Amino acid sequence: MEIEKFAENLILEARNKGASDVHLLPELTHYFLFFRISGEMQKHSLVESKEANRLISYFKYLSGMDVGERRKPQSGSVQLALKESKQALRFSTISNFRSQESLVIRLLNKMHTGSLKYTTFFQNEVIKMNELVRFKSGLILFSGPVGSGKTTTMYQLIKDYHSERSQQVITVEDPVEIEETSFLQTEVNEKAGIYYETLLKSSLRHHPDTMIIGEIRDEETAKMVIRGALTGHLIIATIHAKNAVGVLSRLLELGVTIDQLRQTLLGIIFQKLVPKRCFFCEEETLAVCSHFKGYGKRAVIYEVLTKNELQSCLSTESILNNQQTDTPRSFNRLLRKAYAYGYITTTTFQKYQIP
Ligand SMILES: [Zn+2]
Repeated sequence: MEIEKFAENLILEARNKGASDVHLLPELTHYFLFFRISGEMQKHSLVESKEANRLISYFKYLSGMDVGERRKPQSGSVQLALKESKQALRFSTISNFRSQESLVIRLLNKMHTGSLKYTTFFQNEVIKMNELVRFKSGLILFSGPVGSGKTTTMYQLIKDYHSERSQQVITVEDPVEIEETSFLQTEVNEKAGIYYETLLKSSLRHHPDTMIIGEIRDEETAKMVIRGALTGHLIIATIHAKNAVGVLSRLLELGVTIDQLRQTLLGIIFQKLVPKRCFFCEEETLAVCSHFKGYGKRAVIYEVLTKNELQSCLSTESILNNQQTDTPRSFNRLLRKAYAYGYITTTTFQKYQIP
């Protein structure tokens, strides 16, 4: 098959299956293709090394990378014209010690009003989140596995609120995952000397009403986020943790004090994207089901910690013990409820529980 056609089919298939990214990874004698779907790597196929190298070179060429450079990590992007529509893609390459390149392709989403909304089984949490974004200053944190729709939720919440009143929204991301023209979106570009910290600093100097920050990943960014929230900005960010309470211990690890958290933190949202159960196939929608398509195959379960629940978590003891929340609306309880209502399959119920 022609390489152009192969590349196009690959991206189309990834998009139809709802993959967030495609990985082409070398083994000794061949490559493996993976799709990341719902945060999980799924093996797609084996690709001959020769074919894989042609594909990598083709994408490097398309996205303006140096095709001859095979040792240094590179990144690039392109709008690929597919049937009826365009797909924004971001590429990054890196080599192993054998000088075999690997390629990661991220599929970016464009935000059309409403079209990106994942469904959720329980509206209560959505109402709570909508209340949170009405605050003028403070910190709202999102956590959950890669590909669980955190960015989509953040964008959708702010966009919905934003449409009611005019607000300045600045985003700092690495990279931008969803295009949204009503936000001022900024992106890390180390080649051009634009680093995460630089962007955060200069964005705060713009005094936006709301800031969306891709990720709190070190002490430096944690410090800046807290400072921003203390000085009259509404800051929304993601942070890596394995459950809602884990967000607090992670922040303490990054040098934030409990007092600062009490002063700034408005809410914590932990979310996972789970496959729905199809009522026709009586199976999960990600399998062979053709009744649901794209975003309709999955739904988000949110755990939202605010007010009293949050304050009680902020008692030192529970943070240090890194306990799981066991409120009536904790993630695991809502997952159980979704199962009891027949919204998800037994397999999903077991697999998505937080241990
Ligand atoms: Zn079905």
